[in-house]
Amino acid sequence: MDVKYIINKDQLHQARNSALHAHEKYYKDFSQLLKTNINNRPVIDMASDEHKAKTHRDAIEVCKMGVLDVRVIQKDPKIFLSYLTSLSSCDMSLMAKLVIHFQLFGGTILELGTEEHHNKYFPDIKTMRIVGGFGMTEMGHGSNVRQIETTAEYDHTTKEFIINSPTRSSTKFWIGNMAKYGTHIVLFCRLIYKGEDKGVHGIVTQIRDLDSKNVFPGIEIGDCGPKIGWNGIDNAWIRFTNYRVPKENLLNRFANISDSGDYTCKLSTPGKLFQVTISQLVFGRLLYICGPIKALTITLRTGLTYAFNRRQFGEKNKIEELIINYPSHYQVLLPMLSHLVAFEFARDSIIERLLEPKTTDERLDETNSTISGVKALVNEYTMIYLNKLRTFCGGNGVSSFNLFGYYRNEMDIFQTAEGDGAVLYQQLAKFLLSEYKKWYKKEGVTGYIIKEVQTFLATSNPMYTHTRSIPYILSNEFHHHAFLYRFERIRSTVIEKLSHSKSKKLTFLQSWNDSLLYIIDMAKAYSHLYILEQSHLAIRRCQDPSTRHLLNDLIKLYALSNIEQDFAFFRNCNFLSSGKAFAISDAIKELCIGIKPYALQIINSDYNILIDPLLNIPLANLDGDYINHMADCVGVPKSNL
Ligand SMILES: Cc1cc2nc3c(=O)[nH]c(=O)nc-3n(C[C@H](O)[C@H](O)[C@H](O)COP(=O)(O)OP(=O)(O)OC[C@H]3O[C@@H](n4cnc5c(N)ncnc54)[C@H](O)[C@@H]3O)c2cc1C
Repeated sequence: MDVKYIINKDQLHQARNSALHAHEKYYKDFSQLLKTNINNRPVIDMASDEHKAKTHRDAIEVCKMGVLDVRVIQKDPKIFLSYLTSLSSCDMSLMAKLVIHFQLFGGTILELGTEEHHNKYFPDIKTMRIVGGFGMTEMGHGSNVRQIETTAEYDHTTKEFIINSPTRSSTKFWIGNMAKYGTHIVLFCRLIYKGEDKGVHGIVTQIRDLDSKNVFPGIEIGDCGPKIGWNGIDNAWIRFTNYRVPKENLLNRFANISDSGDYTCKLSTPGKLFQVTISQLVFGRLLYICGPIKALTITLRTGLTYAFNRRQFGEKNKIEELIINYPSHYQVLLPMLSHLVAFEFARDSIIERLLEPKTTDERLDETNSTISGVKALVNEYTMIYLNKLRTFCGGNGVSSFNLFGYYRNEMDIFQTAEGDGAVLYQQLAKFLLSEYKKWYKKEGVTGYIIKEVQTFLATSNPMYTHTRSIPYILSNEFHHHAFLYRFERIRSTVIEKLSHSKSKKLTFLQSWNDSLLYIIDMAKAYSHLYILEQSHLAIRRCQDPSTRHLLNDLIKLYALSNIEQDFAFFRNCNFLSSGKAFAISDAIKELCIGIKPYALQIINSDYNILIDPLLNIPLANLDGDYINHMADCVGVPKSNL
């Protein structure tokens, strides 16, 4: 394959950042402010207490800039997202501290509170006179929030809630910003009303005096100790003993206790109330898609820049070979680049969907479930890639200055934060199965048989499974069919297994857990299908033909390398003959060879990371002079010869 691409940097940049492109002014201005005012960059070697104090000081300085405000989330969440994107070049602890304070704490008050709460808290959140936290997780329960144990019993005589941690496992755990500096949390607890458990509610709870910073009687707090990452965040354990909070602190947009002491809820079921109560997690998951994508962009850029400048071995008496020219390098780095671009397309589609102004319950459910799957998948890949990238830079990959270890540690937490993959994939799987149930109800057995026969005919046709035609192997039609087939095939297996639960005398939960690996695979397959479909849509939207051509080939590489990773499945199902599988591997190699000369221009087309003033990575410098940049970092003297 002899391909030549014309790189139009602006078009490529725009295509890779479509959701926030129109808001880039906010990103740039805020990046500049951050550089001028605090110059906070990734912290790679600092004692934990010092790191926490620095993070706190810098967070206050950021608030003094007056840019971040909960009202911005309300007015235009894309502006807020643009600010967070700027912050993601700072030390991750600073970003996490501000996200917890503004989005998790402030955003929950915005979502679950009323105008009175907004007016009372937002001005102090903006200046950080109060420091907010999000008190959901307990020692006994993280993913399964419904089972948290902290209680808030309503006492109508004083119009207060009495908060208690009835067991050791009910101790609030990991609560960010709270061990040292926090003053308020949105406390998630069981509301006990006239002896009846009304389920999980959010109550704003002050835990420290604003001036003295002393913890109030009835509250015990400690630090959760050293961590793999986010060491500038003071994560706390917190316990309550008969601690009283006024009734008006209940975030009562949906569930309320009136002055006369009556409990009412505007939502039709406790399930719906629970969903809105934890709704901030959905926006949080979007951030946990954006963060790893940015980390991957930065580290892949380092890996590629180094690979195009580092030489090792080669023909005798000739200049040594660039390491990018080893297939063991480029056939990993270029599929990685293609995955990055596909993830960017999925991220942008999710931003647009999540921020749709008017949306139905069904659409919201679909969006939330999709976010869960994509969040899990992007984090899974990012962690694998970060490890690979570090080894691809050899010993220099170990140097903290090159930030591989930093991102590996800071991103690690993203995998479980706001939901671990195994839990999130199941959430998506439940949605997918309920959608299928609706479809089946409409189409019935006849529709089912027609669909199965269509799939069978397509894939049992030897022409189909054996064809090695390169144009067909490279076609978007084939890729979409393969991804769709994988999803539907695994879904059929899941349905078949679940429907046997009755004959096996299993409860639904037993049967679900029995099929769990297939269920998770189904959700992963759907997430890949979603990413592919969104990538195809994004390419079609791209106005510039040469950029469209390049993006199209990148997404072909994403699709084919993904199929290759899953050869075991496709071969087991006889979707591919072995000859076709070999032809796919050859096509991947050809695509990699074609794209390789353009890889640096492609990665650098996301020029936001180039104007990021806060990153200064020796191996990633555009001039490619990594020897001198590394030498300067560690004080190697210049040669006198
Ligand atoms: C640095 C840090 C900061 C944090 N900050 C906050 C904060 O500010 N506020 C807050 O409220 N929380 C916070 N957390 C808590 C965090 O959000 C939880 O750790 C997360 O929700 C996962 O819950 P868990 O730790 O209880 O894991 P668990 O739910 O116990 O999961 C453990 C493992 O079991 C698996 N698992 C669980 N259930 C199932 C199932 N049904 N099927 C298959 N597998 C399953 C999971 O996938 C996972 O692999 C923080 C955590 C950390 C580490």
